[in-house]
Amino acid sequence: MKISELFFSIQGEGKRTGVPSFFIRTNHCNLRCKFPGGNLCDTPYTSWNPEDKTNLGDVDINLILQKFTEGNVKDVVITGGEPAVQKEELKILCRELKKLNAHITIETNGTMISDFIKYIDLVSISPKLSSSVPFGTEFERSHSKNRINLDSFREYNEHSKRKDFDIQWKFVVCSETDIDEIKDLQLQVGFSNSEVWLMPEGITADEINEKSGMTVQMCLTHGYNFSGRLHINIWGNRRGV
Ligand code: SF4
Repeated sequence: MKISELFFSIQGEGKRTGVPSFFIRTNHCNLRCKFPGGNLCDTPYTSWNPEDKTNLGDVDINLILQKFTEGNVKDVVITGGEPAVQKEELKILCRELKKLNAHITIETNGTMISDFIKYIDLVSISPKLSSSVPFGTEFERSHSKNRINLDSFREYNEHSKRKDFDIQWKFVVCSETDIDEIKDLQLQVGFSNSEVWLMPEGITADEINEKSGMTVQMCLTHGYNFSGRLHINIWGNRRGV
């Protein structure tokens, strides 16, 4: 499986913030986010410039499982990049992790779904709003065309009716005007307020803090949850944490 990083840390975002976890960061993404202030995706080494040769590269799934068992954690967070790009490998990985009684979170942009989903405990979906379009780049068109897949979003949402399955819709907030798109998606897909987490956009603690007040106010006004980015506050924009 094409892997960028394997590491132990705490979950820094969403409803499982603070939970010690084993992170499996997959390589490659079908999108290329770029935000209005100029920030690229926070892991450009998996999306804009996937470093197949300098990252871990192709890793045997058994080695990933072995590393997980060397730690003292129950949670596994499969993140990216976009993990669903490698859907067959992802299914095998999740099936084997379940045999080890892992609690599996997958962090995804939600544009792709397949039967790996039956092994997942928590899906953290982060639909990409129009603020993520990389205007003026070669990816502007493909990103704009692919960032919203309502059929896929609705299928994820259907799974949230399963008793053993949890979901959170996590939106990166750049400005107050993002709320119209979030509300529109909510209406079209049908998720509830309690499943929504708004997270300020930023790759430094200063950037995140600057947008936090506005984001909290949006949460209070619309009945959503707030998510910070705890790992950025603690370590800054470093890899492997
Ligand atoms: S969807 Fe996620 S991994 Fe892909 S480019 Fe956007 S922020 Fe990066």
